[in-house]
Amino acid sequence: MGSSKQNSISAKPRFAVESYIEGILKKDRVMLSRAITLAESNLSTDRLLAEELIQGILPYTGNSIRIGITGIPGVGKSTFIESFGKYLTSINKKVAVLAVDPSSQLTKGSILGDKTRMEELSKDENAFIRPTSAGIALGGVANNTREAILLCEAAGFDVIIVETVGVGQSEAQVRSMVDFFLLLLLGGAGDELQGIKKGIMEMADAVVITKADGENLKKAKQAQADFQHALHLFRAAESGWIPKVLISSALEKTGIHEVWSLIDSYQDQMISKGYFHSQRLGQNIDWFHSSIEGRIKQEIMNSKSMQKKIKETEKKILSGSINPGTAARDVVQAFIQSLSLN
Ligand code: GDP
Repeated sequence: MGSSKQNSISAKPRFAVESYIEGILKKDRVMLSRAITLAESNLSTDRLLAEELIQGILPYTGNSIRIGITGIPGVGKSTFIESFGKYLTSINKKVAVLAVDPSSQLTKGSILGDKTRMEELSKDENAFIRPTSAGIALGGVANNTREAILLCEAAGFDVIIVETVGVGQSEAQVRSMVDFFLLLLLGGAGDELQGIKKGIMEMADAVVITKADGENLKKAKQAQADFQHALHLFRAAESGWIPKVLISSALEKTGIHEVWSLIDSYQDQMISKGYFHSQRLGQNIDWFHSSIEGRIKQEIMNSKSMQKKIKETEKKILSGSINPGTAARDVVQAFIQSLSLN
């Protein structure tokens, strides 16, 4: 593990930044895991180290396709990712799966907690599976995951899958960090049941109707036609890409190769148009802005006097004596003043 000097200022044992970099470039998975843990930490000493680490590995990043996958619980995400991931490793790809759980803040890992997910893939030496806990991160789960993507790229993974549960705001965050966004849907289930909102459909570069096997096959084909029609109606993407609808059975391993071919051809087309690169640059600007928000919030939260003021203000909001917008303005004003006094 190189010169693993322990970093004494942080609460947990840390290594010198060079050791992380060396380990990651040597494709040491333990070091990769530790680096992701470091990047998830909110301790300010860890943040500084993580930022130095990200800066150090930056020249080795970018050489992957970043794929976001979403869908409601039960749609078949983990089964699909398992089959898709195994297919990819069979064609000599190295696959990293970052599973984002927006609810883990409340339930401590519900997405991954109670069942063994992706059992086969987790044993594959060309695959790396890692849950990302939401909520604790500076700037939310998005910045955590963005850093994890870069770390995986530097460790040589060339397909990065970011999985999220389709229950709300996490889709938009994931959309803003991937090249290609895949929505998994069930054939024959009502749109409302699946939480399909126009917004989510608009984000998708492709829809895959899952469980297209046995008695479901007919329904899946019907849904394919219906969704293809719906997608044509409401999108003229900036990229010029027309979203496609495919069907797949992860259990019977059908339609898996087709999903990869589609993503591959998307990547080729978007690279030649220059869109691939410009989308990533735009995402870096988003990252920058959300980091500013995160940093400012963290600075406020780190200040003892501000913590006190926030607690008092919460009481005022609860008693109805101030509205939340004005309260936030007051808190920010007080913070700015406290800076000029120091
Ligand atoms: P997730 O919650 O979206 O990750 O969904 P899972 O992958 O855990 O799958 C939910 C259920 O659907 C499980 O009981 C799976 O066995 C089943 N399932 C997943 N993929 C398929 C498929 O391709 N065909 C069929 N028939 N069942 C599937």
